[in-house]
Amino acid sequence: MVQLQDNKTLHVAIIGGGPGGLATAIALSALSNVEVHVTLYEKARELREIGAGLNIGYNSWRCLELLGARSEVTGHLIDEVQQRNGLDGNLLAKRGPSSLPVKYQSRRVRRTRLQRSLLSQVPAGIIQLRKELISIENLPEGGASLNFSDGTQAFADLVVGGDGIRSVVRQTAFPDHNIKFTGTTIWRTLVPSSLISHIPDVPTCTSWWHGTAGHVYFSPVDDPSETDSENQEIEISARFLVDPETDKVRRWSWGVDTTNENVEAHFTNYDPRVREALSKVPKDSWKEFSAFAGPRLNELHAWNKLVLIGDASHPLTGAFGSGAAFAMEDGWILAQGVEYVFSTLASKQSSFSKDEGLRKVLSIFDTIRSPYYKRMYQHLDNMKAKFAGVADTFEGRLQARIAAFSEGGLDWIYQNDIEQVWKEWLQQKDDSIPGQVDASFVSSSL
Ligand SMILES: Cc1cc2nc3c(=O)[nH]c(=O)nc-3n(C[C@H](O)[C@H](O)[C@H](O)COP(=O)(O)OP(=O)(O)OC[C@H]3O[C@@H](n4cnc5c(N)ncnc54)[C@H](O)[C@@H]3O)c2cc1C
Repeated sequence: MVQLQDNKTLHVAIIGGGPGGLATAIALSALSNVEVHVTLYEKARELREIGAGLNIGYNSWRCLELLGARSEVTGHLIDEVQQRNGLDGNLLAKRGPSSLPVKYQSRRVRRTRLQRSLLSQVPAGIIQLRKELISIENLPEGGASLNFSDGTQAFADLVVGGDGIRSVVRQTAFPDHNIKFTGTTIWRTLVPSSLISHIPDVPTCTSWWHGTAGHVYFSPVDDPSETDSENQEIEISARFLVDPETDKVRRWSWGVDTTNENVEAHFTNYDPRVREALSKVPKDSWKEFSAFAGPRLNELHAWNKLVLIGDASHPLTGAFGSGAAFAMEDGWILAQGVEYVFSTLASKQSSFSKDEGLRKVLSIFDTIRSPYYKRMYQHLDNMKAKFAGVADTFEGRLQARIAAFSEGGLDWIYQNDIEQVWKEWLQQKDDSIPGQVDASFVSSSL
């Protein structure tokens, strides 16, 4: 069993090198007043993103700024979003350019750009690849022992579960929590723009083409001022819904290969423009994702030493199209909590132990992030209730979708400023969170 080396340094193990894990590694490594030793364990052989593009909006830009990682994130400025009837192609609604300053407007970016940019800010030597966590042991004397599939072990005072939708950390902390297939299958790919640029109305802006049981989504992912026209690509994301209760197919949650025939077979009744675009997708370039989701967790931490971030903490499979932002926000807030407790608070109080400090950190993290996720689950419940009340016809569901699009009302997500959230917490905080300070743990630099 690995033993705690010393009592001065906080040993943090981050599991997973997605946006959440990388953001946490950057934010914790940047703390100057606390001695934190960070190791990020990732099961993959290399950090490689699959899954085409993603939206980077105001909430993500603010995180990237705080992490010093925004400069390499470029992509297509989403200046127009169209909603169409996918069967006859009629334009039903559109949203024009945002009133935000251009640098904060939403862009569709290649996932690889976000990952590269975050990776560039992670200090060297922190990431260990090919380390698949298989179990965690709660050490009674403090900390946890991590067991990896290659037979090795590691010790940590704090384990950060950034290991995504099928989190081992979540399964360890909350063994009764289960995720299941929601009924939605998503196929995603990036296509060279030149292959579909001749099709009217498809590649010009971000557009949703709604059908009877799903939709097809198109969005350019490159900034024409930065990418040559021959290298520009367009993302196609197609969704199809089945009844999860009757579905008998074996499902994989993340990025498996599939055939063009399989994808196209689900959209044969769509507008000819959509069908033509799908027919131009190069062979073997689609990836299939089955959406899994699970209930809300009442707490985002356990054992006073495990904490969940990103998809591990709220398995919603991209329900708001902003999961990378949530994951980065979690990581940044966690780091602020560590600094606040082990630096600011520690310098004011006479003594508290490492365990007590961690209790405070996790309590702060939960106080800030749990209500936010609760609000998201509540919103999804409200939407479900609203949709249950609409006529069960294609037109009825389409009208409800367009109404929800036009209504907006999700600025509390898309315009969340995580730094402001932290400042507001600092203003109304209650320092009487139980705990004692052990002066020996306070960083020597204080
Ligand atoms: C179809 C779809 C569309 C989406 N669109 C958007 C969008 O437009 N904008 C947006 O912001 N978000 C979007 N999301 C959500 C976004 O992809 C996720 O929310 C985000 O990637 C979550 O980041 P994460 O770091 O929590 O987890 P992940 O990105 O899932 O990373 C988890 C990491 O942990 C590693 N790992 C897993 N298990 C272990 C283990 N046992 N040991 C070691 N390592 C492990 C994995 O290999 C992986 O690298 C979308 C999601 C889907 C499915």
